[in-house]
Amino acid sequence: MTTSFHPPSRTLMGPGPSDVYPRILEALSRPTVGHLDPAFIRMMDELKSLLQFAFRTTNQLTIPISAPGSAGMECVIANLVEPGEKVIVCQNGVFGGRIKENVERCGGVAIMVMDDFGKPIDLEKVEDAFKKHSDAVAIAFVHSETSTGVRSDAETLCALARAYGCLTIVDAVTTLAGIPLEVDAWGIDAIYSGTQKCLSCVPGLSPVSFSPRAAEKITKRSSRVQSWFLDTNLVMGYWGTDAKRSYHHTAPVNSLYALHESLVILEEEGLEKSWQRHRLNHLALVAGLESLGLEFVVEENSRLPQLNAVSFPKSVDEAAVRSTLLSEYRLEIGAGLGALAGKVWRIGLMGYASNPKNVNLCVSALGKALNAQGHRCDVSRAVDKIGQVYS
Ligand SMILES: *Cc1c(COP(=O)(O)O)cnc(C)c1O
Repeated sequence: MTTSFHPPSRTLMGPGPSDVYPRILEALSRPTVGHLDPAFIRMMDELKSLLQFAFRTTNQLTIPISAPGSAGMECVIANLVEPGEKVIVCQNGVFGGRIKENVERCGGVAIMVMDDFGKPIDLEKVEDAFKKHSDAVAIAFVHSETSTGVRSDAETLCALARAYGCLTIVDAVTTLAGIPLEVDAWGIDAIYSGTQKCLSCVPGLSPVSFSPRAAEKITKRSSRVQSWFLDTNLVMGYWGTDAKRSYHHTAPVNSLYALHESLVILEEEGLEKSWQRHRLNHLALVAGLESLGLEFVVEENSRLPQLNAVSFPKSVDEAAVRSTLLSEYRLEIGAGLGALAGKVWRIGLMGYASNPKNVNLCVSALGKALNAQGHRCDVSRAVDKIGQVYS
């Protein structure tokens, strides 16, 4: 007989999922109600307001898509891009490549602006692309590249797009709740995020938001959205403001309780406080890791506090270190992805996992694992450096 699955206990400091708040796990276990139950619909309305708060927007069309961040990406692009339309796509990591793939699958033409892994998006190259392609309808880019730990200047990219009359599509999967994000103030037209990164919620939902300009483009489309499931015109029959909500798909009821709880926690902490906490724990991690002799991939001004990519001496068996962390410390960190595969570790300090205890755990465990492989490093000095940041 197969028995029930009981996961091992872990500390999740990879690129996502991050550790889920216990309160959220508790919310998840509350009784399932019908997805058209009046009490549930009231919760959905709160959820929309809470998402507006987290995104800093008044956009009416602000909802969670019932699928992970990748579906949010697909939803935004499928709704906004019509066959033959040109979209400027910035790629400086793995996720920008997926945006290209989505634009092309929707029949769009992706005009690529390429930057190296680990570098922020180059604003001059983007401006050149706008000049060369005055017929582009939108620009799409990743704000927080989780594959490298780099933050691009979303505010300036959006201002540029405005100047050239383009809509802006922003990947904020790893951004939301981790670093400053201002959907309305920056003029973002379409944005998607995920629940399993800095919201520290369960994986599997994707908050999205569309500005009135973007919503207008969607209603004026000349072709149908190629995806039935992700067509916002249909989804809004269920999530819209009409008193009568109609069935579109069965909402993931308990996961939505979880998202509601995670946003309540965020509201209690305060958005700015959450950004500050991510930053402080990042600075402590930097102090500890640099003291161990590890080097950051991204230059200081563009580093994401919630995703830290560090390289290690060539002779280190990086996979062995990660498996030691998992077996001896129950600690998960991420491997490199794409062009950085095998070359870096990606250490997440996301949401609930962004705390001093985890910073200390990670630095001491890494230091000990490196020593065990014969790479001398002083763990107690690194722990002192961490303490100095917090004091
Ligand atoms: C994680 C991530 C995604 C995909 O989210 P999933 O929930 O894994 O589908 C997309 N973009 C970025 C930048 C991410 O970090």
